[in-house]
Amino acid sequence: MPSTPCNSRRSRNLNSVSELAPQSSYPRRTTRQVRVGSVLVGGDAPISIQSMTTTKTADVEGTLQQIYALAAAGCDIVRCTCNEPEAAEGLAHIIPRSPLPIIADIHHQYLRAMEAMEAGVQGLRLNPGNIRRPEHIKAVAREAKDRGIPIRIGVNGGSLDPDLYEKYGGRVTAEAMVESAKRELDFFEEVGFDDVKISVKASNVALMIDAYRLLADTVDYPLHLGVTEAGPPPAGLVKATAGMATLLAEGIGDTIRYSLTADPVEEVRAGRWLLESLGLRERRGLDLIACPSCGRAEVDVIDVAAKAQEALTDLNIPIQVAVMGCVVNGPGEAREADLGIAAGRKRGHLFVKGEVVKVVPEDGMVEALVEWAQIIADGGVEEALRRKDDSAAAEAEADRAELLDEKGDDANHATERIEIIRKMR
Ligand code: SF4
Repeated sequence: MPSTPCNSRRSRNLNSVSELAPQSSYPRRTTRQVRVGSVLVGGDAPISIQSMTTTKTADVEGTLQQIYALAAAGCDIVRCTCNEPEAAEGLAHIIPRSPLPIIADIHHQYLRAMEAMEAGVQGLRLNPGNIRRPEHIKAVAREAKDRGIPIRIGVNGGSLDPDLYEKYGGRVTAEAMVESAKRELDFFEEVGFDDVKISVKASNVALMIDAYRLLADTVDYPLHLGVTEAGPPPAGLVKATAGMATLLAEGIGDTIRYSLTADPVEEVRAGRWLLESLGLRERRGLDLIACPSCGRAEVDVIDVAAKAQEALTDLNIPIQVAVMGCVVNGPGEAREADLGIAAGRKRGHLFVKGEVVKVVPEDGMVEALVEWAQIIADGGVEEALRRKDDSAAAEAEADRAELLDEKGDDANHATERIEIIRKMR
């Protein structure tokens, strides 16, 4: 399976000095640590922010655009639904190009979990209320163990195993939710799998708080917090904040997600505000995102990103900057960033809000970023767009067309992977 160790190359992973260290007086509960791609969850890792795409996962370009918008907003891990065969095939295209680690949300079909792993996901979420056959659960856990992929046991108050519902008097209780998680853990234990995070979400805030407190007393696995189906803001924001803030102030919680009926970017912003206001995450200045690099990359993305980070940090400008490995997809994928550069044919295509404004030599990429960041800082995005070089778009299109011609449509060999996925059915 493909590994994507370079995922999530965000500024804080590159030793940014523009971020202020968190100052929290809430001691964290001690938990084990798991790794979702390049993001550590639990132990002494910063509390991570998650969100979920709302696109159809089979819509590769639409999903990637949303993932980049989430990355620019400060998301650490993104979940995509894997509810149908086309979604698993979409993941095979999305994962090599995603700047964030991807967790596949599996609904009722354990086969989708197997396919998602073949597609290269960095994590799975299973709902014990939906996949209930022990042989299926154990088959997924065995495969996840072999591939080093963590699984979140995602208990949901609204879809509890009917058997547990009856056992607890026809009500959803904290005890029933924790028992559901423990049953799943027992199946995992049978195959020696313990690379686990757990959530016990409910839409009732008091129930959710009770369930997480009980769970935290019972296991030492990292916990994913959330108030499920919180609804649209502002009521949804208040409900989710009430539940998660209460627990975080008690030291419970290793990763969080706001489940809002809104653009998922709002979920990420809310997550950051919550963690920053509790002193649990750093405040952000420069936000540099970089693509993970893939079969299309035309430049050493890590090197350019590190140099850009160093040069831009000194400017002390609150700006989102994207460093992208190729001009074929770069400007489109990172169109939400204020400023970005994409490499191609020994040149850098500089773009502002997804629009190519200038083409520069490859060795002038970092310098150009600094110059245009200053233009944006002084006059805003509008001023930068006014200074656009008229021939830039045509030059960029010519480079893009040549590269597509050279490497074809499938530089990441997603078609081969999809062939394997299809044979698994
Ligand atoms: S090299 Fe291009 S296609 Fe690959 S992840 Fe980077 S920007 Fe996306």
